[in-house]
Amino acid sequence: MKPRYLSKPQFAAELEKCLKCPAKPCAQACPVKCSPHDFIAAAQKGDIKQAAALIVAQNPLGEVCGLICPDKFCTRACLRQHIDAPIKIPQVQAEIMRRAREDNLLPPMQNVAPNGKRIAIIGAGPSGIGAAAELIQHGFQVTIFEKNETIGGALNLIPQMRLPREIIEAEWQYLAQNPLVEAYFKTTVADYPTLLQQGFAAVIVAVGAQKSRTLGIEGENLLLDYTEYLQNPAHYATAGNVAIVGGGAAAVDCVLTAKAQGAANVEMFVRRRLSDMRITATERQALLENQVDITTMTRVTRVVKSGNTLTAYTCKTRFNTDGRLEDVPQTEIVRSDFALIILALGATRAQEPTEAENIFYVGDFVGGGSTAVEALASGKQIAQEVAKKLKI
Ligand SMILES: Cc1cc2nc3c(=O)[nH]c(=O)nc-3n(C[C@H](O)[C@H](O)[C@H](O)COP(=O)(O)OP(=O)(O)OC[C@H]3O[C@@H](n4cnc5c(N)ncnc54)[C@H](O)[C@@H]3O)c2cc1C
Repeated sequence: MKPRYLSKPQFAAELEKCLKCPAKPCAQACPVKCSPHDFIAAAQKGDIKQAAALIVAQNPLGEVCGLICPDKFCTRACLRQHIDAPIKIPQVQAEIMRRAREDNLLPPMQNVAPNGKRIAIIGAGPSGIGAAAELIQHGFQVTIFEKNETIGGALNLIPQMRLPREIIEAEWQYLAQNPLVEAYFKTTVADYPTLLQQGFAAVIVAVGAQKSRTLGIEGENLLLDYTEYLQNPAHYATAGNVAIVGGGAAAVDCVLTAKAQGAANVEMFVRRRLSDMRITATERQALLENQVDITTMTRVTRVVKSGNTLTAYTCKTRFNTDGRLEDVPQTEIVRSDFALIILALGATRAQEPTEAENIFYVGDFVGGGSTAVEALASGKQIAQEVAKKLKI
């Protein structure tokens, strides 16, 4: 798998497909209201500078989103699908942004006069970045506090073969040129109200979903958490068999990574049906191409260590008359010989929000595991509300 940029002929062919629908359904479907209709029109004229400027004006992570946005937003809205296939809009966006970055065509950062108010943003993932990009348009001085040493939050867990880290860094550097933006890394903030006492007019909490979901089974401590795995897959590289528990996008990333790291066989254990897996058509295709075994309607009930390998005890599941999942009695199967079992059920927020004046919550912390563009949109939207509330 490679980052999904387009070759010259592919790019030209995708641009050519645009029907120029007057209602711009693609723009309406975009959570950050980026308009493919308009940036494609600019690119068709060969004006990559203008196309990139239109993207950057709405999305400070335009290239990142081009590389990783799922097909459920603009692509799904593209009316071209009624003729042959929708335009590969995210890929077109990624390609425009790549060309603009490499050819130095990005517009100079617009410097708005400071309004004298400071806003603290906790967390430097997409929602924090979205909030920052919007706030500086209103003249706020933003200070980002990030507990890790890098920008991007959960984007750093996406395999490099889909999202090279230098793209996240390049988009951050573009935003960070603005004198209204400052960031402190390796800085954890636990007490949000204190920041208000320190002179910040508002605090935007953009800390994401930090708590991995668990199974609550015997032997759970033998499983490797997906965030741990995806942060450093080379450390866990194995030529043995790997099992992944979970059937969502994070699980697919673990599967493809384990394959790329040389695992002999990779198998997914999924409690529901294949059709219930919340993955995109592209992810489904990748599972097929990589010949991944998907064991559906199966629950892992316990895990034990046997020498150097792990054994998973599983049972079959079924939907009861209320549509709820239940175990099917006497269906235990013992699966041995796993070098690694990775738990990839996604994450939820680590603590409940504390309501207080001028403290706002955004991104996956509020919405659970979503997408980068939705997290960004949530940050932008709250930033607009903050600007309104503080009468800017
Ligand atoms: C494996 C994986 C694959 C994914 N694939 C895709 C994809 O293909 N397409 C897509 O659109 N989305 C994908 N996503 C989802 C996307 O990455 C998230 O929806 C998005 O990053 C959420 O943004 P956020 O800003 O809300 O939170 P996060 O990105 O989680 O950022 C929160 C930040 O807050 C920091 N933080 C937490 N607590 C504190 C504290 N107390 N003080 C200071 N800093 C703190 C964290 O270190 C982190 O940097 C994927 C996610 C994962 C895990």
